[in-house]
Amino acid sequence: MPEDKALVLFSGGQDSTVCLAWALTRYANVETVGFDYGQSHVVELECRAKVRDQMADAFPEWKAKLGPDHMLSLRELSVISETALTRDVAIEMDESGLPNTFVPGRNLLFFVYAAALGYRRGASTLVGGMCETDYSGYPDCRNDTIQTLAQSVSLGMARNFAFETPLMYIDKAATWAMAEELGGARFVDIIVEDTHSCYRGDRTHRHDWGYGCGTCPACELRAKGYAAWRAAKV
Ligand code: ZN
Repeated sequence: MPEDKALVLFSGGQDSTVCLAWALTRYANVETVGFDYGQSHVVELECRAKVRDQMADAFPEWKAKLGPDHMLSLRELSVISETALTRDVAIEMDESGLPNTFVPGRNLLFFVYAAALGYRRGASTLVGGMCETDYSGYPDCRNDTIQTLAQSVSLGMARNFAFETPLMYIDKAATWAMAEELGGARFVDIIVEDTHSCYRGDRTHRHDWGYGCGTCPACELRAKGYAAWRAAKV
C-alpha cells in the first residue's frame, strides 16, 4: 500500500483535529473517519464537517491533500457498555479506579474498523489522538496497547499498517502549542471556535479555550492546558 496516504481517526474534538493537521503536514493524501458509538456528546460529530471545512478554507495546502470523510456506526458499543459517555449518568470513578467515562474496547474497535477501511482505501497509516499522559489511565490509550494492536492488525490483514499517535507523550498545554506550530493563530482559532471536547455536549457556554460545560473532566483538561499554554507564552 502507498505510504503517503493516511487515515485520521477524527472525532471533531481538539485532539483529533490537531492530529488531522499533523497528518496534513506529513502525508500527500489524508482521509478522515468518524465513529458513531451512541456517545451522549453527539454534538462532537456535528462539528466534524465544520472543522474540516474551516481547515480547508484557511489552508489551501491542506485542502489539496484532504480527501473524503467516512462515518462508521459502532452503535452496539452503547448497547454493550454502561458508561457515562453512553448513558445519562454522573461521571465518577468506579471500583477499579477507572472513571466511568472509559468505554471498554472503544479505541481497539476504532483502530480495527479504521484499518479495515484503510485496507480498502489504500491507506497504510492510521493516525489517532490517544495520549498516555492526560487520560486518567485509560488502558486503551497506552502506547503498548496501540502498538501491539498495530502488529496484530498488520498480521491479521497481511498488510503493514503503522499506527501513529502524535499526542501520546505530551500534555494538553503541549497540544495547544503543537496546534499553533502547525497552523498558527488561525488554526488555534478554529480549534477554539469549531472543535468540541466536552463530555456533556455543551455548546452554549463559550470560554477562552472554546465551548463546553467547564466542569466535566474533558473541559477541565482542556481549560487547564489552555491556561498553562498561555502562561508559558508570556
Ligand atoms: Zn464539559
